[in-house]
Amino acid sequence: MQLPHQTVQTPVFMPVGTAGTVKAVSQDVLETLGAQIILGNTYHLYLRPGHELIRRMGGLHKFISWPRAMLTDSGGYQVFSLSKLRKVTDNGVSFRSHLDGSSHFFTPEHSMDVQMALGADIAMAFDECTEYPAEKSRAQESLRLTMAWARRSLDHHRANRHTVPWCEELGGQTQNLFGIVQGGTYRDLRRESAERLVEMEFDGYAIGGLSVGEPRELTMETIAEVLPLLPADKPRYLMGVGYPDEIEMYARMGVDMMDCVLPTRAARHGLLFTSEGRLNIKAKRYAEDQGPVDPECTCMVCQRYSRAYLRHLMQCGEALSGILNSIHNLAYYLGIMERVRKSLQPEG
Ligand SMILES: [Zn+2]
Repeated sequence: MQLPHQTVQTPVFMPVGTAGTVKAVSQDVLETLGAQIILGNTYHLYLRPGHELIRRMGGLHKFISWPRAMLTDSGGYQVFSLSKLRKVTDNGVSFRSHLDGSSHFFTPEHSMDVQMALGADIAMAFDECTEYPAEKSRAQESLRLTMAWARRSLDHHRANRHTVPWCEELGGQTQNLFGIVQGGTYRDLRRESAERLVEMEFDGYAIGGLSVGEPRELTMETIAEVLPLLPADKPRYLMGVGYPDEIEMYARMGVDMMDCVLPTRAARHGLLFTSEGRLNIKAKRYAEDQGPVDPECTCMVCQRYSRAYLRHLMQCGEALSGILNSIHNLAYYLGIMERVRKSLQPEG
């Protein structure tokens, strides 16, 4: 996948950098781990420090000193999950900040303006993430809104995308915009959503609204239904998924990009993913365990530190605990994708 700041090898896992940082992991470590693209959350960056400030700093890449690729979400998901007193109309969403209660209004055009100011390599269309479970009529109405907002997002983005902070510097290259397939767990709605988005000709396509509490078989069925409808020569992105076995399975089904807070969030709670399964580093049985987290892992944490030490750091609430745990979990996730990529390469 050729992006303005990086040629990305797919399938790829994207660590989530909510507020301009992948929690507890510095940019130089992310580079060492082989992260090719990271995600930023528009809602959080819009509220703090503000997209206009980031534009003045030369865009998100410069502001956080990340030379490789970035993607921003549309802000929609967080508006719906975090903010208070939101009101949805055809025009957009009004909401109050979860930080200070201040009032804001997001339209598809405004989400595009914010994302262009942030200047990631990939921006996402403004959508409504349909909750699970949702009645068919509710999923239909939600999809109607998402499709209208996709059109408006695309029109506004196409007309203004030359304004991203680095467009001139990179010889006229500019930001990509992906459309998001919604439709809940209804196959006909998913199909309609995919077909209409493909007609609009986005730069890539995402499958949204999954891993929101539905059974895993339904997640798989929906992905299997939608993937063949999306053009194979454009990136296909599955949003917000999942556990290690899931990301491997979906990558093998043909998903090119995935993101999830799970490896870093779980790490901060002491849950580590290994080739032997999940491990809770807080457990007493690791108190004197001199072995590494995962004997098969080549990450900088497993090369140097014991389970006993990591358990001790967690017990004491040391800042280094979250750092080392997050590094290992990210290495594990990125390693899965690397293995899948290698296995997909033609022999010789
Ligand atoms: Zn490791």
